[in-house]
Formats: sequence, C-alpha cells, structure tokens
Amino acid sequence: MKLGFATIPTRMSALASPKVIAWSGVIAHYRERLDIAHHVAPVTLLEGNTPLIPAPRLADALGGGFELFLKYEGLNPTGSFKDRGMTTAITQAVADGARAVICASTGNTAASAAAYAARAGLTCVVLVPEGKIAAGKLAGALSYGAQVIAINGNFDDGLRMVREASRCAPIVLVNNINPARLQGQKTAAFEICDVLGSAPDWLCLPVGNAGNITAYWMGFSEYHRDGLIAQRPRLLGAQAAGAAPIVHGRVFDKPETLATAIRIGNPVRWQEALAALRESNGYITDVTDDEILNWHRLVARLEGVFVEPACAASLAAIAKGRREGWFDPRGQRVVCVMTGHGLKDPDTAMRSFAAPITIEPRLEALLEAVKL
Ligand SMILES: *Cc1c(COP(=O)(O)O)cnc(C)c1O
Repeated sequence: MKLGFATIPTRMSALASPKVIAWSGVIAHYRERLDIAHHVAPVTLLEGNTPLIPAPRLADALGGGFELFLKYEGLNPTGSFKDRGMTTAITQAVADGARAVICASTGNTAASAAAYAARAGLTCVVLVPEGKIAAGKLAGALSYGAQVIAINGNFDDGLRMVREASRCAPIVLVNNINPARLQGQKTAAFEICDVLGSAPDWLCLPVGNAGNITAYWMGFSEYHRDGLIAQRPRLLGAQAAGAAPIVHGRVFDKPETLATAIRIGNPVRWQEALAALRESNGYITDVTDDEILNWHRLVARLEGVFVEPACAASLAAIAKGRREGWFDPRGQRVVCVMTGHGLKDPDTAMRSFAAPITIEPRLEALLEAVKL
C-alpha cells in the first residue's frame, strides 16, 4: 500500500541558506539503520533532530567541573521522545496491513500513538490509569481522536490487558514490547553522536518501562560496532523512589510518584536494561519526589528548559551520585535526556509555586511590586 504523503524536497529554493537542510524524520534520515519494513511510505510528523543544548549553569549547580548537555526530546511533535518509536511502530503496522492499534500508557505513549494513528488513518485505542495522567497528555490523546479508556488500575494492569486484547482481537500492540518501537527510539543515540562527533562519557536518563535505556544502548552499540564511535558511554539510570523496581530488584505492586511518566512497577525491558547497565559499567539509582521537583525547577530556572518532572530524575541522580561520592564526572562530557516537555504536566509545575500576585493597573503599584 502506498500512502499519499507529500515528499519533502531535499533541495531548498535558491533563496534559502545552503546550510538549511530539510529534515524528513528519523526513518528517512536513518533508513538503512532501521530494521523495519521499508516498502511503505513512512508515517511521520518529522520527529527527531532535537537540540542538544549546552547547560553550563546547571552543570555548576550539579557541582561543576564537567560538560553538560540536555537532549531536549520535549521538542518532538507530540512533546516526548515517544514519537521516535511511534513513527517506526505505526509505519510497520501499516506495512503489516493493520487497521487498528492499541497501547497502555502513563500518557505520552497514548498521545504519540494517537497522533501517528491519526496520520495513518488507523483506529487507536489507549488505556490510561484513571486520575494519574497529566492534563497535557490526556488532552493530546483526545484531540488526536483516540478512544481513551481509563482503568481503575495502574500502567502495569493496563499493559497486561492490552497484551491480551492484541492476542484475541485484530489490533496491533504499540507498547515497547513491539520491537519496531526500539528501532525508532535508538535514533536519539545516533543524533547525539552525530552532533558531538563521538559518544558522551555518560548518558543519564529516567527509567520507567526501560524501553528508552534499552534503545539508547542499542543505538550506541550499533555505531560502535560500525566504527563510527570509538567507545560507548556509561549509563546512569534514574527511577523514582516510589517506583524503583530495577534499583531494588523487585516488582513494585503499587508504584507511586508525581513523575507519572515513570510510575511503573514492573518494567517490560527490565532484563535488557540490566544488561545495558552492566555492559556500560553504569549505575541505576532512585531519587525522591522532592529531589525531582527541586531539579525540575532548577533546569527551567537556570537554563530556560521546561521539562516534565520525570526528566529531572536524571539530574537528581547526578546530584545524589556526587553527594554520595560514587559518581564523578569531572573533566567528562555528560548528556541528560529531557524526555518530555514541561507543558505536558502544568499542574505539577504550578503546585511548586505561589500564585502570581495581583496589583492595581497603576505604575506605582507595579514599581512597588517588582523586585530588582
Ligand atoms: C516514557 C517516558 C519515560 C520512561 O521511558 P521508558 O522507556 O518507559 O523507560 C520517561 N520520561 C518521559 C517523559 C516519558 O514519556
């Protein structure tokens, strides 16, 4: 089946700067590296190519002496890195003749699946934990036209249900059990290496279902195997204290954290994550919700980068590792993955702050109120 997507011209008009190159999404850019069907046109929203932002003030706040970059994945089309895996999963589903897709989600997978399904004209069903999904994610999933079903249970319950549903109904599962998801997600590792010219010394990221850490390791390993980077980074994973199954080596039946994107008690890619951590000589640790909120605020305040709370777990893990002495990045290059956009979860952000003060519409009142 051929879909009628317009192709992006690769040659720009004569007026455009020759340095501006049209970006056509991660499948077009990394085509030969992605193990998915290539006989249908990619279902894409031109995801990927996200900025790698230097963060010197944040590095100082984390003890200094190292180079820090933020891979700002919140700038993907639906506001999280999930879009990288969804372009490949939905493209593969279309190639396989699917008419409908289903997933369980803490929110971002739902929004992403719904958007890419809309683009491909597929029916999309998403299961979300009742009351535990951030407003921006729910609004997205609903707007893109997915059938959103809330369950009286957590993500892990939802995942069990959609796995079973995809076995007995003609509907394709697009959670990260689906290997096509990891194919797309590994492109973030390629982009980091392409920009830096080498792998960083450390890659730090929040870990929920552990699909992302698995995909990054796959990406770095493939570049290393093909001689494009001399060595792979060490990995530093971060879980929330109330949802830290990999850190403690046990399932969390009732995971709890305000970082809803990583509120997962039984990760699908648990074994793969452990193998990646071991091979990279890395660490995984847990951080409290208070630490998450603190770094959530600081990354916005010090660098102007607004992220969703889960992202801040990676920064809190660096702070914890330095405080406890087991993480020493001095003289090294560290990349922290900011997995989702701050606007996804405005309520958590607003709760950290006092409401704005209100004044009379007079200059004197303004001058009295401002603090310089
Ligand atoms: C999905 C998600 C995570 C967790 O990624 P996993 O692949 O489940 O480990 C972290 N942060 C955000 C913003 C997410 O959407």
